[in-house]
Amino acid sequence: MRFPLSRPDLERYATCSEAPATSGGVIARFLGASSVLLSDGTTAVLTDGFVSRPGALRVAIGLITPDVRAVCEAHDRLGAPPIDAVVCVHSHYDHALDAPVWTGMTGADLVGSESTANIGRGLGVPEHRLRVVGDGDVLVYGAFRLSFVESEHSPGDRFPGTVDVPLVPPRRSGAWRTGTVYSVFVEHPAGTLLLHGSAGFRPGALHGRNADVVYLGVGMLSRRRPAFVEAYWDEVVRVTGARRVVPVHWDDFFAALNRPLRPLPRLVDDLDVTMGRLRVLAERDHVEVLLPAAWLPVDPFAHR
Ligand SMILES: [Zn+2]
Repeated sequence: MRFPLSRPDLERYATCSEAPATSGGVIARFLGASSVLLSDGTTAVLTDGFVSRPGALRVAIGLITPDVRAVCEAHDRLGAPPIDAVVCVHSHYDHALDAPVWTGMTGADLVGSESTANIGRGLGVPEHRLRVVGDGDVLVYGAFRLSFVESEHSPGDRFPGTVDVPLVPPRRSGAWRTGTVYSVFVEHPAGTLLLHGSAGFRPGALHGRNADVVYLGVGMLSRRRPAFVEAYWDEVVRVTGARRVVPVHWDDFFAALNRPLRPLPRLVDDLDVTMGRLRVLAERDHVEVLLPAAWLPVDPFAHR
């Protein structure tokens, strides 16, 4: 019997495997939600970098602020790499809360919408570190080429709108408004990875673009109609020709990152339902679906 507050068991799913130490290509480290550090040993790009992960009660009724110590600890645990760019896939707190702290700590650019720039300004990120990108824009960091395509937030955006003035925490979680939602193509000589953090799409937006691997936002997909899930898959995975999907934004992001990731309670979002639906589409299109483990260095393009 399945109790609504029970959580799916991750044991039953295939997971990304650790990269060999000598891998000379791109190494990806997943940090929960849609935070991923991509590095080739010379250059590193971090998406979101959300590691503060305040508890549910505080998020619901309290004030939140970046946990600088959590960011420091995360940076140390990753081996204190230099980071060239921190990219926010949109500006909700579970994406953009900590990004300015990473920028301040590493000297990275803060990349995203004008809303993300205002979140950076609120924490003193200097103007020359802010990169506001629009649909179709490209930024190059070392051997990484980042292309930004505007997308849609998953349905039921709780904090729509933009952040129009510098956002100085602590604030209510709803102050981190969506801004622009991006799909980010990360091209590297080793392969092309699409990071698509929010489970929404613009029909046709990704047509004509290719990716080897999609880090696919699956938050709340268990609550959508099957037709929506199929359209989402078709518009993000199928059109890009990806052979591998790594689901992201399925973990309970109210829980600290120093414990193993766990899915949300079934009552909120049932990962088993989501994975069951993805499996059908993946088998149809001969795509491999691998769950990421937190912190583990993986080669996203490795052949298995
Ligand atoms: Zn969001």
